[in-house]
Amino acid sequence: MTDMSFDEMPDGRLFMGGEWRAGTGAEITSVFPADGSVNRVLRGASRADGTEAIARAKAAQADPAWRGLKPHERARYLYAIADGIEANIQRISRIQSRDTGKTQRETAALAASAAGTFRYFGAVAETMDEDLTAQRGDSLTLSVHEPLGLVAAITPWNSPIASDAQKVAPALAAGNAVILKPASWSPLTALELARIVEATGLPKGLFSVLPGAGREIGNLLVEHPDIAKVSFTGGTSTGRALARKAAEKLMPVSLELGGKSPTMLFGDADMEQALAGILFGIFSSSGQSCIAGSRLFVQRGIYDEVVARLVAATKRLKVGHPFDPATQVAPLVHMDHRDEVAAHVARALEDGAELLCGGAVPEGEEYANGSYYLPTILTGVKNTDRICRDEVFGPVLAVLPFEDEADVIAQSNDSDYGLACGIWTRDFPKAWRVGRAVNAGTIWHNTYKQFSISTPFGGERDSGTGREKGRQGLRAYMTQKSFYSDLSGAPHPWAGAALEEA
Ligand code: NAD
Repeated sequence: MTDMSFDEMPDGRLFMGGEWRAGTGAEITSVFPADGSVNRVLRGASRADGTEAIARAKAAQADPAWRGLKPHERARYLYAIADGIEANIQRISRIQSRDTGKTQRETAALAASAAGTFRYFGAVAETMDEDLTAQRGDSLTLSVHEPLGLVAAITPWNSPIASDAQKVAPALAAGNAVILKPASWSPLTALELARIVEATGLPKGLFSVLPGAGREIGNLLVEHPDIAKVSFTGGTSTGRALARKAAEKLMPVSLELGGKSPTMLFGDADMEQALAGILFGIFSSSGQSCIAGSRLFVQRGIYDEVVARLVAATKRLKVGHPFDPATQVAPLVHMDHRDEVAAHVARALEDGAELLCGGAVPEGEEYANGSYYLPTILTGVKNTDRICRDEVFGPVLAVLPFEDEADVIAQSNDSDYGLACGIWTRDFPKAWRVGRAVNAGTIWHNTYKQFSISTPFGGERDSGTGREKGRQGLRAYMTQKSFYSDLSGAPHPWAGAALEEA
């Protein structure tokens, strides 16, 4: 196991307007979920800290030293940040594993993907063309994109470095200044990102990292008149409240919210591949994933066999320490969250669900002080039950049978969410038909939880609005300006008599 010393972790100061300073807001404690030990106690950002960071960001963004850079010049900072992340993957991975309890295998992959995100958006910025629009008169007509100004990025605790990069990279590449507010349970990873960004020489003030309470610094970022956009990833109720406030000042928001994603397993699927993909889809990241495949629909004819094999395989999953390379299911982020997951399972049992495995805290010395929860499978549920409606955000799978395409499409779509969907079948035309009929932002066919920075991602309805990633992901942080320039030199119809008399 590769752990890290206390001294290696960010020291708890915040990165405000280009300077490292102690916050003056409420206290935050980052805890290592594997054993409950304290990583750091720090003071989060207060409203006063946020107000100062915003003022500095505004000045830095308007400064020609940044505002005047050509896209390919801005891209150099993005490439340098990518290099900095790549040179520190192991360190970032250890910090993030201590911050969130995720396996080091996963956090190393997330750090590598964050580097890829910065590199991608640097490349997008310097290769994205502007529009010369179709001429409909004797004017040259152009439409160009400009930065919005100040962007606030508000992120959750489950994959900090990846969700931070997904917002910070396009926002900086577009020429904005960015204030990043990470979640209180995982403040350290974003502060490590700040150290890397600072080392690139990015002009001071353009990037700040302000961990702190949502109701304090989060609210300030949403309400402040100088913040031109909030890019938010988190829970649906937080996102909805934030969107209401944003509407007051007519501010655009991107909302990446929760999910209750269906996975469907047809009788003609490659069963080995499908079972592995289904287990990974729900139990990797201990189910703490917006795209977790938490509702599994199995075609009636193979239902009993599939459930038996899934349960046997789930019992064999290695539940363990985040730094053990053999671990497949690591602890949940926090004891409070473990209690919430357990409460969802208790409610499902009240509603009549049958517990086939898990549903408890693992026993043994190695789990004693960690926020572990066993991977859990429930059957005997209806799609209308709470366990199939509510996002659990933990290692809990509900399994239901389906009859045919029409039935599984109807059940999948009977949900408030619309984030992702998995389809396991050897029949591509069927996957295409079903995938087009399901209301979700991402469809995976014969795979699950695969990501690419070049492919747009986002949700529908309670899963949010807007898309991140992809080339258009840059435009989400820009405003458009159209430009008409007369080419004719012809006299204006209003020129003449009236003007001459004047
Ligand atoms: P959360 O909504 O509690 O918090 C998210 C962020 O919002 C945190 O930084 C929090 O401090 C901040 N916040 C809280 N109140 C605020 C307020 N009033 N104003 C401004 N900011 C405020 O979510 P969480 O528990 O950190 O994360 C889990 C949730 O995130 C799950 O619902 C999950 O599905 C969702 N998520 C979605 C995606 C996606 O891409 N769709 C990805 C990851 C996580």
